[in-house]
Amino acid sequence: MRLAIYPGSFDPVTNGHLDIIERAATLFDRLIVAVSMNPGKKPLFTVEERLQMISEVTRHFDNVTTDSYKGLTVNFACEKNAKAIIRGLRAISDFENEFMMALTNKKLKPAVETIFLMTRAEYSFISSSAVKEVASFGGCVGELVPPLVQKRLRDKYINEN
Ligand code: ADP
Repeated sequence: MRLAIYPGSFDPVTNGHLDIIERAATLFDRLIVAVSMNPGKKPLFTVEERLQMISEVTRHFDNVTTDSYKGLTVNFACEKNAKAIIRGLRAISDFENEFMMALTNKKLKPAVETIFLMTRAEYSFISSSAVKEVASFGGCVGELVPPLVQKRLRDKYINEN
């Protein structure tokens, strides 16, 4: 069985992420969308909230599951016996950092490949941080995230303030 992991912050999951999930799920027998617990970042949503949103919006894929991990992505990949780490690329600005990470990961665990999927043109401008910025000022993010995520953002920014 060929398994891949798709790691990230997913704070929150966007239509851009979902497109990568959908495409990666057709390339592999199983895909684990893995929320990294990165202590350096201050997230809007807790890990549990992020996992719950991802599970909900990917429930129609029968080979996609969710998980979270601490520490190195390659270690998590090996633990799960994953053949590949999936990453999405939006722009040249993503490339340098992703290239460095992929080379570092290759050095650490040569058996795990990093596979890059190019964003779809219409999603190339979507990022979790832009989504949060728009939502925080009351803008409509209906075209950028699934309806459930739109609702959760509204709850965070309107009801909690
Ligand atoms: P990280 O903090 O690990 O970059 P993100 O949640 O921002 O976590 O992104 C996870 C992965 O999804 C990254 O590989 C990122 O490049 C990719 N990604 C994010 N937004 C998009 C998008 N709109 N189209 C394609 N890939 C995307």
